[in-house]
Amino acid sequence: MAEQLNEYQGKATMEKITSLAKRRGFVFQSSEIYGGQNGAWDYGPLGIELKNRIAGAWWKEMTQLNDDIVGLDAAILMHPRTWEASGHVENFTDPLVDCKKCKARFRADMIPEENLAAKKCPECGGELTDTRKFNLMFKTHIGPAEDTASIIYLRPETAQGIYVNYKNIIQSNRMKIPFGIAQIGKAFRNEIVTKNFIFRTCEFEQMEMQFFVKPGSDDEWFNEWRKRRWAYYEKLGVKMDHLRWHQHDKDELAHYAKDAYDVQYLFPMGWRELEGVHNRTNYDLNRHTQFSGKDMQYIDQDNNNERYIPFIIETSAGLTRNVLMILCDAYDEEQVADKGNDDDWRTVLRFHPNLAPVTVAVLPLMKKDGLAELAQDIRRELKEDFATDYDQAGAIGRRYRRQDEAGTPFCVTVDYQSKEDGTVTLRFRDSMEQIRVPKTELTARLRQEIKDYKRIK
Ligand code: ATP
Repeated sequence: MAEQLNEYQGKATMEKITSLAKRRGFVFQSSEIYGGQNGAWDYGPLGIELKNRIAGAWWKEMTQLNDDIVGLDAAILMHPRTWEASGHVENFTDPLVDCKKCKARFRADMIPEENLAAKKCPECGGELTDTRKFNLMFKTHIGPAEDTASIIYLRPETAQGIYVNYKNIIQSNRMKIPFGIAQIGKAFRNEIVTKNFIFRTCEFEQMEMQFFVKPGSDDEWFNEWRKRRWAYYEKLGVKMDHLRWHQHDKDELAHYAKDAYDVQYLFPMGWRELEGVHNRTNYDLNRHTQFSGKDMQYIDQDNNNERYIPFIIETSAGLTRNVLMILCDAYDEEQVADKGNDDDWRTVLRFHPNLAPVTVAVLPLMKKDGLAELAQDIRRELKEDFATDYDQAGAIGRRYRRQDEAGTPFCVTVDYQSKEDGTVTLRFRDSMEQIRVPKTELTARLRQEIKDYKRIK
């Protein structure tokens, strides 16, 4: 058997994950029938469920489990002065070079230094242009006139929608510092290089939480949020040896940041940023004060009406990048037999049951003899509590494999014995173990299994 294995058997690669994602309806290329749109992807039936569950887990962690964090959904289109104040018009640029010969375009900080120094294209050896700054914001026009007065940007981050609303939220919800505002939403960046599937795209989603603190307590809160974000990924059931911190050095720090750490994940293409935890100081609120003329100070009524501009600790994660991380983290190929054919291996997505797009699939052993009807009845009951699927096509072994590949943690099989004694087979995705359970106890049993879930591989 061993000699038949290619070097990638059993391993996750971006190619395999991209192909599985398409085959099973997680993620499709945008506008594929027209040749695809670079930097944009569509989430299919399983993908949207996975994305929603990842967003739901984050939202619960931030707003439901924290008394001092509230949610917001701000508009994508913001007043253009916002982006002057935030520094994006001036600073949100990447260094860009083009090859005069093959027309390839590169981010200057992503090609070898010797190529940049010699102005030599890393792909064809042709001459490179001088480096120039390229603003990543998508610019368009609002209204009928396409003049400078009508310029509007698609937001490149969700954070600014939070800053411009922070006083509204203090007033409407009587928030007291320290407190946070959480938001999930689309962001757009005209990325020069969009490769590695959904890792870096022009249209993506962010999950950002901005925590407003008293100046002087910012270092403490920064460390606290680093701890909480690490604990969050642990709770999510991610392989912790695939996560690490990366501290930004002086050259890497954004123009607004005092300190910044990235959570990096070991993707198939290497260690890459998943989320940033930043101490943004009072930069943004100071700038909004300056540009809007509005007073952005916090008035501390519990402390003699002391006034100050709060510091902000930001945790900024990519939702769509988290989808890729969870897909990579869950992906496994396992040898389950040694007969020398394709069936020896199964592909299994080991999602945590809280994240799996389908929690339980109901499968009648046969379509005939009333088994399909019984299985449909059971599914109908389970639907109220779980995301379910129903599959009656093909051999049962193949159906299990299909569910393994979709990451469904539990299968319920209805057979002839079910008709006699009311029990069904409960099959576990990870161990492939099968037990018999009375159908009346299924809901309670599944709830308990989800609660007690521990990944075994
Ligand atoms: P990078 O250095 O990779 O361009 P960044 O440091 O500019 O990213 P932030 O501005 O800190 O990223 O954005 C916060 C998070 O948003 C990132 O950690 C990432 O998960 C996500 N993100 C940023 N840009 C993209 C993108 N083009 N596509 C998908 N996700 C992105």
